Amino acid sequence: MIVVADPHETQAGLREGRVVCPGCGGRFRKHGFARSRSVRTRGGARRQLRPARVRCINPACGRTQVLLPAWCVPGRADDADTIGSALLAAAAGQGHRSIAERLGCARRYGAWLAARGTYR
Ligand SMILES: [Zn+2]
Repeated sequence: MIVVADPHETQAGLREGRVVCPGCGGRFRKHGFARSRSVRTRGGARRQLRPARVRCINPACGRTQVLLPAWCVPGRADDADTIGSALLAAAAGQGHRSIAERLGCARRYGAWLAARGTYR
């Protein structure tokens, strides 16, 4: 998985051969899409995402990668803005219930914060 700051710029980089394989340095080419996912945003709304997949053109490598936009956090159902806001609120001493209520996310989020030592 490769996190990209600007998916449109990355598409241009793919066409121009500027996006290279971290394994071998070969060029990537488009290789369809990864699975669709629904990412929660602040306020509990959902944003649909179907990230692009690329494959290394080096036949000795052939590695595939998913290009995930930077507003997503790999392995998390909430977007980076929501997670960052929750971490800042926890660092400021807010409880997980009030954080969840303010951000519109589930209470289980408090356990996630606690597991990372960011919740007091
Ligand atoms: Zn490669």
